Amino acid sequence: MLMPTRSHQEFQDFVKEHLQTRYLKFGHSDAVLLNHKVLASVWHADLSKVAQIVGYRYSKAKGSPARDPVDMFRSLLVMELLRERSIDSWVHKMRYTPIFAIFSGFLPNDVPGVGTFYDFIKRIWLASSAHLSSKLRKPRRKPNKGKKKGDKSPIKKPGIVKRLVERYLQNPPIFHSRPHDLFQKIFKECFVVPSTKHGLLGDINALSVAGDGSSARTGASCYGKLVCDCRKNGIYKCSCHRKFSDPDASWGWDSYREKYYFGRTLYAFTAADSPYDLPVYLNFFKAYRHDSLCFVYSLHDFLQQYPEFKLKECLLDSAHDAYAIYNLLNHHDVSALIDLNPDSKPTMTHAQFLCLLLLPKTVSRFALLGTSCLMMVFVKTVIATSGVVLRFANHGRYPVIQFALIHLMVVFFTPKNLITYGSSLVFHGALAFLRFVTSAELLLNASLNE
Ligand SMILES: [Zn+2]
Repeated sequence: MLMPTRSHQEFQDFVKEHLQTRYLKFGHSDAVLLNHKVLASVWHADLSKVAQIVGYRYSKAKGSPARDPVDMFRSLLVMELLRERSIDSWVHKMRYTPIFAIFSGFLPNDVPGVGTFYDFIKRIWLASSAHLSSKLRKPRRKPNKGKKKGDKSPIKKPGIVKRLVERYLQNPPIFHSRPHDLFQKIFKECFVVPSTKHGLLGDINALSVAGDGSSARTGASCYGKLVCDCRKNGIYKCSCHRKFSDPDASWGWDSYREKYYFGRTLYAFTAADSPYDLPVYLNFFKAYRHDSLCFVYSLHDFLQQYPEFKLKECLLDSAHDAYAIYNLLNHHDVSALIDLNPDSKPTMTHAQFLCLLLLPKTVSRFALLGTSCLMMVFVKTVIATSGVVLRFANHGRYPVIQFALIHLMVVFFTPKNLITYGSSLVFHGALAFLRFVTSAELLLNASLNE
């Protein structure tokens, strides 16, 4: 049975009182100072909305009084901040180190047991199993890796992004009752909305977001446990089902570290036009899922979860350089700023190119950088000098003059046969030089401001 929960102000008073009586009064301020980061986190994170969000998972009238869900969630948060991985040892730690119990909101002599934590996790995870896939499955193969240094993993089935975008545009997906939905709601109400109120995410009526996937490794074995009798019968190479302790994990290619990893992809949108680049959307995907597919799903999920936000720009890396994604962003009236994929062939036809030019809101001018005919380069120069400031994903601002200069260089100093899709040496040389100049300028401005 859920009892009325206390307010954040009451929690702050509780922390103040117990730190005073158990530590500061006896001159043990070093324990508090050592954990000042955790203290700052729990002090400022108002989690009181957790009770409203998970309240419906508790009985209203029956059963013994439940632990305050806000304290339980906070305790799991402190556990994560202190990089503690096991609930058993976390409960043990809280019982013998009173400061951790106080940070969580518990009295040091009244810390909940291990079972209470597992019970709480069951309430906020909306599925009967902790795993989405079956534990018994065939071992998965590694995806193809990038050809050159720093290259992204190529997409497995060509045209799949286009098909997914078309399907979503025809029948917009409605996401409901997914296992992690309560986590997403807590993340929105307790972290993103307060950040918006403090103005930390920039202008939410013209929000700029940057999207990318990153590798999240698992500690579980990638081999699985054999459950068949093939070995007894002398067969040492079989493709039977095996038992995996983390069945949702799979192999993925980490292009940054140039390594395979076993785990998941964490796809995130961050507020790009803001001082802290704070995340506004987080979701886990299978590690073999290509970033562009994760993006299409995440964008729809994000737009559904945050109807109050108006997206203005979307900054993406070269893994997202697909015509379908420009189309999708244009459909949602969002400017696309996507890094060029140097390996993609000039697949854009003249008709598509002209369509892209006519799209009103798409700042797909960036995509036009690499197109192959001289006429297009002239058109691009005109666009560039028409007052558009281009911003490259993760590489700062390019003033129009520099942009126009580079295009004039491409037009006048590059032999015609060299202007191919992103492969002109002069173009890349000039781009590298401009990047250097722009970053030097930015550094200089930053140091002058300080
Ligand atoms: Zn077998």
